[in-house]
Amino acid sequence: MKKSLGYEELKKKIIDQNLCSRCGTCSALCNRIDINYDDPILVKDCTIKVGAIQCEIDGMCYENCPKVKTPTDTIEKNFLEGTKSEQVGKFIKIAAARTTRSEIGNISQDGGIVTTILAHALQNKLVDGAIVTGKDGVEPWRPKSYVATSLEQLLPSAGSKYTNSPVVKVLGKAIMEQKLKKMILVGTGCQISGSRNLQLNFFKKFDGIDITTIGLFCYENFVYEKLRTKVKNLFNIDFDKLIKANITKGKFIFATKEGVHEKKVREFMDCVVNACHKCTDFTAELADVSVGSVGSPDRWSTLVIRSKKGAELINEVKKAGLIEVSDQVNLDELNKTASKKKASK
Ligand SMILES: Cc1cc2nc3c(=O)[nH]c(=O)nc-3n(C[C@H](O)[C@H](O)[C@H](O)COP(=O)(O)OP(=O)(O)OC[C@H]3O[C@@H](n4cnc5c(N)ncnc54)[C@H](O)[C@@H]3O)c2cc1C
Repeated sequence: MKKSLGYEELKKKIIDQNLCSRCGTCSALCNRIDINYDDPILVKDCTIKVGAIQCEIDGMCYENCPKVKTPTDTIEKNFLEGTKSEQVGKFIKIAAARTTRSEIGNISQDGGIVTTILAHALQNKLVDGAIVTGKDGVEPWRPKSYVATSLEQLLPSAGSKYTNSPVVKVLGKAIMEQKLKKMILVGTGCQISGSRNLQLNFFKKFDGIDITTIGLFCYENFVYEKLRTKVKNLFNIDFDKLIKANITKGKFIFATKEGVHEKKVREFMDCVVNACHKCTDFTAELADVSVGSVGSPDRWSTLVIRSKKGAELINEVKKAGLIEVSDQVNLDELNKTASKKKASK
């Protein structure tokens, strides 16, 4: 019998080496590990001491951590289609798109594509729930990942929170505890890799589990407490009073009622989650569909369709008149940014 590796090994090889992206995969299946905004911790003793005995989930915390390994080729073979580009991974089509639903366009980050897709999936009962990241009720810009099962629950998740949240933990709990089966998950590259690992290694053992993934382009993510303090020090802004934060063309922009404040993103490097410095996946290459702003005009999104499932979903949303799609996408800009991320490691 293959011996499973557990939290101790994860701590030694990933957490203590500052490689944890805080995606939440390790705690998706295990109630002994918890993670919120910092590194994962043990809340109950791990049932295995390395190599000694098997745990009830067979060391899934270590096995599925995307920083331990992500079997890209196997995931591509199992889930994705199209041609492979060196910069952005497998794709069937790349386009620019924007929502036609003004109530979504008014609250979304860019083209409102992500929220429009999720709204369609929920309203037409294509999924039981959407794993999204909204804002904490107490501190308005502290991210909080949760399962939205209705449009009402979904809408507050629109817009980017540039700080990490354990999205994959919520997916695991939704499936294992709430017994939801058909899920759609939104996350950055590391979160998509973690959820793909679970799909490949664990969820395929269950009947009817069906996960669709929407990836977000991501150059880096930031630690909430550090970003909050930095913004206060640089601009004397109360983070709680932000209206919108945005990263575009190398600038980090913060809007409040009083005005707009901006600085080059590189001024915020001391707030970046350490693991992001080692990441090469700008476009969330393993998602069914990836979405970001780079390559598209203001208030539009760049859409990378990577699977049959993703293509069907986008076609449905387009056919229903919920999004407008254009070929006017700046592939050079997209490829350049993705290449820069690959070279930055
Ligand atoms: C940390 C981060 C860094 C990013 N960096 C870039 C970048 O460098 N270049 C670029 O082109 N695009 C980047 N994006 C993506 C971009 O900000 C938009 O999310 C994307 O263009 C989709 O826009 P939309 O209007 O379709 O999304 P919306 O309809 O507004 O929906 C936004 C979705 O993002 C999810 N979300 C919000 N915050 C988080 C979070 N912290 N973690 C996980 N999911 C979250 C919500 O669940 C929601 O479903 C980044 C996003 C994040 C979260």
